[in-house]
Amino acid sequence: MLKQRVRLVVGNWKMHGRLAGNAALLQMTAQGAAALSGSVQVGLCVPCPYLAQAQSLLEGSRVAWGVQDISAYTTGAYTGEVAAEMALEFGASLAIVGHSERRAYHRESIELVALKTGQALAAGLTPIVCVGETLAEREAGLTQQVVGAQLGGVLDKLSVEAAARIVVAYEPVWAIGTGKSATAVEAQEVHAFLRGLLRAKDPIVARVPLLYGGSVKPENARELFLQADIDGGLIGGASLKGEEFLAICKAADRAGAEQ
Ligand code: PEP
Repeated sequence: MLKQRVRLVVGNWKMHGRLAGNAALLQMTAQGAAALSGSVQVGLCVPCPYLAQAQSLLEGSRVAWGVQDISAYTTGAYTGEVAAEMALEFGASLAIVGHSERRAYHRESIELVALKTGQALAAGLTPIVCVGETLAEREAGLTQQVVGAQLGGVLDKLSVEAAARIVVAYEPVWAIGTGKSATAVEAQEVHAFLRGLLRAKDPIVARVPLLYGGSVKPENARELFLQADIDGGLIGGASLKGEEFLAICKAADRAGAEQ
């Protein structure tokens, strides 16, 4: 689905939204994306109850849509879970897996995230596999060990062909929703390490898009997206504000065109 170095910007609405407000935001995003040059692909991951609304307002636009989590199972007695194939029925093409909020609040393990990644791929969704260290882990010098184990646990379970179809998002936990973004240099350093892990799996896998997430704003987006191994962003808070989200998409579009 994704070409090398075409930027990808995906919004993560988290547990925000109501039907009335969503409609304006979805329409504004679709209209804004139509004006982009094509050096960036845009997506929105919405709460599951709003998938039908996303489908009806984004279908035919340049904005893809998807979910923020999926079940590790295909079907069965798993109350409250949503299967990848259910999201697919609403035209979804993206599924975030292993977001740090799910790892922290729902105790999702590396093994569970690997199963969810496999489910997304089997259904034909593009999994956006999130990895990231806490502040304590960074301060203890454990960043590479932590993100390496999180990504390695997924890559180990995938064939080269399957691994080439994922997207990876580096999201330092200390930067999510805090307003404190990693600097472009800090982010690039971890991205280069993750790129090495992908390359070690196979040179084809090294091409998967590596997104940065954590307090991306219009003001810091350009510098982040110009880094050698940053292919776009996973955007939380700013994706709820149409103008800010589109400004970030424009920064990615320009970075894609410049390189
Ligand atoms: C996120 O939730 O994935 C995220 C990056 O959030 P924020 O942009 O608000 O830091």
